[in-house]
Amino acid sequence: MTSSLWTADEIIAATGAQCFGDGNDITGTSIDTRTIQNGDLFFALAGDARDGHDFVVNALANGAGAAMVSLSRAEGLKSAGRLFAVPGDVLEGMQKLAVAARNRAKGPVIAVTGSVGKTGTKEALKLVLSRQAPTHASVASYNNHWGVPLTLTRAPRDTFYGIYEIGMNHALEIVPLTKLVRPNIAIITTVAPVHLEFFKSIADIADAKAEIFEGIEAGGTVILPMDSPYFERLKMHASASRAGRILSFGEGEKADIRAIRIDTTSEYSDVVVSVFGREISYRIGSPGKHVALNSLAVLAAVFAASGNVDDAADALIDLVPPAGRGERLILGSEKAPFLLVDESYNANPASMRAALANLGMVDLSGKGRRIAVLGAMGELGPQGPELHKELAQSIIESGVNLVFAAGSLMKNLVDALPENIVAAYAESSEGLIESLNATVQAHDAVMVKGSLSSKMGLIVSSLKERH
Ligand code: ATP
Ligand code: MG
Repeated sequence: MTSSLWTADEIIAATGAQCFGDGNDITGTSIDTRTIQNGDLFFALAGDARDGHDFVVNALANGAGAAMVSLSRAEGLKSAGRLFAVPGDVLEGMQKLAVAARNRAKGPVIAVTGSVGKTGTKEALKLVLSRQAPTHASVASYNNHWGVPLTLTRAPRDTFYGIYEIGMNHALEIVPLTKLVRPNIAIITTVAPVHLEFFKSIADIADAKAEIFEGIEAGGTVILPMDSPYFERLKMHASASRAGRILSFGEGEKADIRAIRIDTTSEYSDVVVSVFGREISYRIGSPGKHVALNSLAVLAAVFAASGNVDDAADALIDLVPPAGRGERLILGSEKAPFLLVDESYNANPASMRAALANLGMVDLSGKGRRIAVLGAMGELGPQGPELHKELAQSIIESGVNLVFAAGSLMKNLVDALPENIVAAYAESSEGLIESLNATVQAHDAVMVKGSLSSKMGLIVSSLKERH
């Protein structure tokens, strides 16, 4: 039996809702009728295109234990099942429940933001801390104005550690989210040109990431990337906040949590780290220097949370790349296998370079080729063409043999590459499917990556289906 997440009385006390109808305790929360589980509380949120109130009947028919609706809309929906009708809008109701849920965490709450590496860092933290105490963490990248409060409302009663991913596309989006999460520990993983179209400069992005400090609990710990050119800027913001301590991580001499050595293979990394001068060695079961660097932030957070840093380091051997973010699949036949690295979930210049560097490290045993299948990177604004072109250097340094490229921005890269490397260019990912599938041979290493909007997942699916 799924355990009780919220009683009706708790929901009423937190949100000021009126309850119509009765039923069992709520066992989960949802904003999407397609994935509703029995016993969920369905929040009827209003989006730009759709109004959740139009889905309440469906949610209740599909097993939802209750729906949270606006009081003004309750009358017409009462016959469908149990309702919690809130005086204001439903997002406000969900936020109020989130505030109540935040107080459930008996131990430190950790918030993770940054241009890249939020989910990777959050997943690694979840892996290591859940072995030490009951841990509640965001699923996937539930990091926006809906995902963060929704995630909070899912915190079980016995939560000790809470780990929340916080994202943004625009300035001032993080402020209300960090005030909901009220982290004891706030991590900024990286500052990089992502979502540049909405910012004048990378310094402005750094300032927006620093908004996370506005919600920090008094005396809390801030964890910052020492090697970032924006470290001092972030530090300045942190010093002006209520945080009581700043920890740095990175390769730089002075970092509190410092990488002494990172030996990466295409499958794992061996890392030696100094934690305030004490050396710890561990293996991470997920490859890439960027994953190793993120692990420093993880250890810093475990340290700040008074967890066991050595046990946390040991647990990282069980880290695996999530689907679409470097997941490794062996396709083809047993006699003629090839490696597919599925990075199709998303891309930006920093993560593209990291993925290409990783492709360069795959051991081909002298037989196969390195094939990069790249989709355009979105949301880069006027710098988009140049940032695509700049990938040429990483491609050459990584010894990539063939490039398949899709999307008009990728034309800038294609024009900057030696002709013999370019295998195919197409306007859209579909246009590469035939030529790529015909080209791939045994022992090749194929890495597929692009922004979500470039639909590189279609290429991954075609490789899986045909080989
Ligand atoms: P999103 O904004 O899409 O939620 P995110 O910040 O959660 O992104 P991840 O999903 O962890 O980021 O990683 C996105 C991509 O960036 C992956 O391809 C990953 O390999 C790469 N990446 C992760 N950490 C770093 C890092 N520190 N430096 C460069 N690339 C990184
Ligand atoms: Mg994410």
